[in-house]
Amino acid sequence: MTFDRIDMNELEKELIEFRRDLHTYPESGWTEFRTTAKIITELEKLGLPVRFGREIHSPESMYGMPKPEALEECYERALAESDRPELIEKMKGGYTGCVTMIEGALPGPTIGIRVDIDCNDVSETEDFGHKPVMNGFRSKHKNCMHACGHDAHTAIGLGTAKILSAYKDVLKGRVMLVFQPAEEGLRGAASLTATGMFKDCDYFFGAHIGLKSTHLGMVAASSTGFLASTKFDAVFHGASAHAGLAPNLGKNAMAAASTAVLNMLAIPRHQDGSSRINIGTFRSGTGRNVVPEYAELTIETRGITSEINEYMEKSAKRVCQASADMYECGLDINFMGSAGGIVCDPEVVSRAREILEGVDGVDEVIEDFDFGAGEDVCTIMKAVQSHGGKVTEMVFGMPLIAPHHNNRFDLDERVIGIGARSFASIALEIEG
Ligand SMILES: [Zn+2]
Repeated sequence: MTFDRIDMNELEKELIEFRRDLHTYPESGWTEFRTTAKIITELEKLGLPVRFGREIHSPESMYGMPKPEALEECYERALAESDRPELIEKMKGGYTGCVTMIEGALPGPTIGIRVDIDCNDVSETEDFGHKPVMNGFRSKHKNCMHACGHDAHTAIGLGTAKILSAYKDVLKGRVMLVFQPAEEGLRGAASLTATGMFKDCDYFFGAHIGLKSTHLGMVAASSTGFLASTKFDAVFHGASAHAGLAPNLGKNAMAAASTAVLNMLAIPRHQDGSSRINIGTFRSGTGRNVVPEYAELTIETRGITSEINEYMEKSAKRVCQASADMYECGLDINFMGSAGGIVCDPEVVSRAREILEGVDGVDEVIEDFDFGAGEDVCTIMKAVQSHGGKVTEMVFGMPLIAPHHNNRFDLDERVIGIGARSFASIALEIEG
């Protein structure tokens, strides 16, 4: 549909500006304080009710929280960088993200839409050829970069809210718009879901930009091939000793962890389908002449089915335990996040397809896009499906200058308008 009540050119400009601001001040999972305050400020301007802070979270399900010092540092940074410190104070402890509800004037279903708002642990390139550098919106935060396009997702969510606010009189039912924190690492969705906030959703939609879909104007109405994934940390506890005087008194945690790394990478692959394992960080050691007493690995496993992921996870944990035993070290395994896969519901996919074909800027609609990664929205979608709700995860195509999570990742910002119009059209047209 066309949105003639709105100056779409003007709206797209605003959304791009909003996205560039988020790009300049990226915040990683559970530290999206300033980001959330910006979103709330915009939603308030539309007169929409906003829920945020402790009321949208379940503390026992907030997985993969940063270390307390890091959390505090990000909190202080956000207070200094935001013009809404009173909002940020209510998110202290990592209670980031927000949820709004757009009530339609006509009776109808509850439609959930989720966008994610966190950045990656990547330092953005300083190369002048990189558009954010050229245009002055390169990340100001060290080791933080929107390298997966969640800044655009957030702008798409805001655009959806702006469009729908102008069409409340013809909106059937209501739209619950979720700005989810901590998508990276599959950490944030469980906390929102455990509050029960999705129990009334009849439909639920998510979307990602880019991925393997490199044509602007191509939209996928559904995705397949979500990799089930588990994230955990392995912490090896040994004993320190003088490396020259008495190395025999030490228990070398670094050696245990090193053994674990190499052997996890050697886990045989499963005959039933694809799997992945990555050990992303390795921290250990205090000094050249000290036997390392501590080592910490951040690990993730993935599988094309939950069973294959479980096989990888179990094997990885066995390797960690055996490696710890080999060097007489203790081992703690700390769960940090997970997501299964989902299957999009055919009824909603075919309706979404019809609607997307009529969206301005969309010239090709496909189905069953091979997602090829984990998606935290699956946790929400599983909950929606468990009470009979229908779901689909869409993809908005755009050319990629560099791959996702790369320090040169960049957007074709026109995808923001396409995304906002797509979500808004679906919300307005899904019911006949
Ligand atoms: Zn992403």
